[in-house]
Amino acid sequence: MTRVLSVASECAPLVKTGGLADVVGALPAALAAFGDDVRTLIPGYRAVMGGLEKPKPVVEFDDLFGGAARVLAAKNAGLNLFVLDAPHLFDRAGSPYLGDDGSDWPDNPERFAALSFAAAHIATEGIGRWQPDVVHGHDWQAGFIPEYLHAMSGDDSRIPFVFTIHNIAFHGNSSADRLAALRLSDWRFTAEHFEFWGQISALKAGLTGADKITTVSKTYAEELMTPEFGMGMDGVLRARAADVTGIVNGIDKDVWDPTSDPQIKPFKTAKGKRANKTALRKEFGLSEADGPLCVLISRLTYQKGIDLVLEALPSLLSRGGQLALLGSGDTELEVALLERAANEENLAVNIGYDEGLAHRMMAGGDAVLVPSRFEPCGLTQLYGLRYGTVPLVALTGGLSDTVINASPAALAQGVATGVQFSPVTAGALAHAFTRICDLYQMPDTWAMLQKNAMKQPVGWETSAAEYSALYASLSKG
Ligand code: ADP
Repeated sequence: MTRVLSVASECAPLVKTGGLADVVGALPAALAAFGDDVRTLIPGYRAVMGGLEKPKPVVEFDDLFGGAARVLAAKNAGLNLFVLDAPHLFDRAGSPYLGDDGSDWPDNPERFAALSFAAAHIATEGIGRWQPDVVHGHDWQAGFIPEYLHAMSGDDSRIPFVFTIHNIAFHGNSSADRLAALRLSDWRFTAEHFEFWGQISALKAGLTGADKITTVSKTYAEELMTPEFGMGMDGVLRARAADVTGIVNGIDKDVWDPTSDPQIKPFKTAKGKRANKTALRKEFGLSEADGPLCVLISRLTYQKGIDLVLEALPSLLSRGGQLALLGSGDTELEVALLERAANEENLAVNIGYDEGLAHRMMAGGDAVLVPSRFEPCGLTQLYGLRYGTVPLVALTGGLSDTVINASPAALAQGVATGVQFSPVTAGALAHAFTRICDLYQMPDTWAMLQKNAMKQPVGWETSAAEYSALYASLSKG
């Protein structure tokens, strides 16, 4: 049994902008099955403060990066939380990371340094009789934790730190003149610790200071060590290769359960998807069509390959296929999608963020599209598998590891679950659209893909066991 302090900038269902929140929200229950006791520290954003059950102050700070703050112990959706109630940093409208104008909050380095500082304080001092054996930080927002642990307790006695990379594209950089403001030791502002091309990098602090580094799929763990995917950190990761492992994400099988999902017309076999498909077409204003109804639910960014979809779309639509898309993100992509949808009968676009609709799309779609240029793990293809919605994905990162491509061999063996394409270009995606349309016209083959998909083990059992073993290997307790 390991006591773990998990530290992250988002946690479902309270606050979510992407897959990180799903993982942070689902892993504690999965680890409880192995006897591990996980408590999760998150920022007290407005949405979080409004959703807490039985909040109780357990730590007070007179001055935490510019104002008074406290840590509350609380519950939400079965999770044991610590919440950093620091109004000067987190009590504001808008997204966890961005102001209304769509750019980063200027004090993001301080905001998440404060989160990391509070984490190190809890780990070092304990809360009542509870003290973690291991601290587990997620992404750059938790990157300074080993620096503060080091400052508070010295390297020899400090509590072990596991650092998980959910997306290496975000570094949490700030200029060197913020060293004192971030309460970092200037003698550690070197390439061995957190200096990155003259800047302070929270991500690098986590990578150099962690006892163990994990990332969210085996393929991404390898990709990260290459210049193509490492985003400048590939050298740092290669130097730490012995301590890096890939542990694939699972999904919360209770939240995503086609047999009981309150957002949909529940079904046990793929046949039950029909009624959901009819309802989904209606919801998106799409008419009947001969080809597959594809769905895409995503942040709209370059990473996610949305521009490739716009380019390759004719090859889907010309075969009677349809696309229903839900997403928000880059304004240019939003505008381009809406303009295109206005001119294409079989393309429907919903700009926004809507959990319920995401469930209905998984239930009603024939295929789920994930054409990412890089994808550490990806969750939407996992939801697709569980709902018998055949994934059509780029061959990269976790998408490589979680989908079995419908190659002639895999079809002959009866093991295929989806379609993968490579390289990640509009041409290859156009070809993949043709393949998915061909497969859809072969009812027996399509039914096999759906059945195989629904049988895939997409839950947390195996991966939680891997995390649990990793914690146990570090725990001194
Ligand atoms: P990332 O974390 O890079 O955004 P993932 O595939 O790991 O990508 O996780 C994305 C998560 O966010 C999934 O749970 C997906 O369903 C959800 N999601 C993304 N965009 C939307 C949206 N517009 N509406 C509802 N859910 C969304």
